[in-house]
Amino acid sequence: MKIHEYQGKELFRKYGVPVPRGILATTPAEAEQAARQLNTKVVVVKAQIHAGGRGKGGGVKLARSPEEARKLASEILGMQLRTHQTGPAGQKVRKVYIEEGLDIARELYLGMTLDRALSRVSIMASSEGGVEIEEVAAKHPERIHVESVDPGAGFCDFQGRKLAFALGLTGPTVGRFVAFCRALERCYVETDASLAEVNPLVVLKDGGVVALDSKMNFDDNALYRHADVAAYRDVDEEDPREAKAKEFDLAYIALDGNIGCMVNGAGLAMATMDTIKLVGGAPANFLDVGGGATREKVTAAFKLILDDPGVKAVLVNIFGGIMKCDVIADGVVAAAREVQLRVPLVVRLEGTNVEKGKEILRTSGLAITPADNLRQAAERAVAAVRGVKS
Ligand code: ADP
Ligand code: MG
Repeated sequence: MKIHEYQGKELFRKYGVPVPRGILATTPAEAEQAARQLNTKVVVVKAQIHAGGRGKGGGVKLARSPEEARKLASEILGMQLRTHQTGPAGQKVRKVYIEEGLDIARELYLGMTLDRALSRVSIMASSEGGVEIEEVAAKHPERIHVESVDPGAGFCDFQGRKLAFALGLTGPTVGRFVAFCRALERCYVETDASLAEVNPLVVLKDGGVVALDSKMNFDDNALYRHADVAAYRDVDEEDPREAKAKEFDLAYIALDGNIGCMVNGAGLAMATMDTIKLVGGAPANFLDVGGGATREKVTAAFKLILDDPGVKAVLVNIFGGIMKCDVIADGVVAAAREVQLRVPLVVRLEGTNVEKGKEILRTSGLAITPADNLRQAAERAVAAVRGVKS
């Protein structure tokens, strides 16, 4: 799960990660009031959307008076903000964060995430802050310094000092940076985050170290342990189909291909997408209906898949292990009838009662293309999209 910058900073505050003072606003009048309350020479009006690159896209602006903050907020609120992370349609801005403007001496980068290969939290720091870290990684990988945290020992101050020296920090700033890393690492671990990114982390003219931006992602499977974090969820920022999927407890991720996939089991779903790619097609989604898919769930899944206007064919690939193939076939047929399927449907069933299941599909009167194995199913779905019979 992703959260907004202002929410991330609220968490940072709880853990003692230094952040600027700021107030959330949802109207231009509130923005003016917030700027007045902050009472600084300069405030920054920052669009709150679940995407980075807001500055470049015109979603982060400096205001020199409360009136100017009001004017800028009226321009930013309601806009479709387009950044390299939003996709071409952009994301509608519903909230702005009004923050004190700070006197920046240097912009650095600090990020933490799980390194799966090492099975450790990796802390990455770079002198190139305020720019896309992916670009730094591609062009100047030597400018990214990494420390991984031993899970037994936890974060050690010497690691923070190593990073600080690599960044060229000196004097009291070193200690502040180390304390910053320590606090952020505790925040990352204790909230079950999957990413904590501060870009930029700034060194102030007075030597202070502050998080000017915050990006936190969380492990969805651990949210039940963190009611405060779960409460940060903002459905407006989510893909509407993905939000709908959550309601039905379906694992769904929208992609940009044209073959809708309905599969049971995450591994089989991945294999199905791979096979579609292998035979020259493109999956429209990842969808795992789970082990005990009921007829209601299958129908909900069908509706989700077909709600995507890009879908030109549907591939159902189900292994009947705990579930029996005839039950699944019943569900598929009922769902296909209910949603009045308008695109070709390819179904591959395998497992318990497979013959019974195939019989149900055959005698359903629906134009279902059966397949005997995964590759054949993928080939038939690709052929169906191209409008040819294979
Ligand atoms: P994004 O990464 O989405 O573009 P940031 O929060 O990183 O948004 O802001 C973009 C840039 O705006 C920062 O790199 C920094 O230069 C400037 N900025 C952001 N917040 C402040 C602030 N409180 N004071 C001064 N400058 C700021
Ligand atoms: Mg940023």
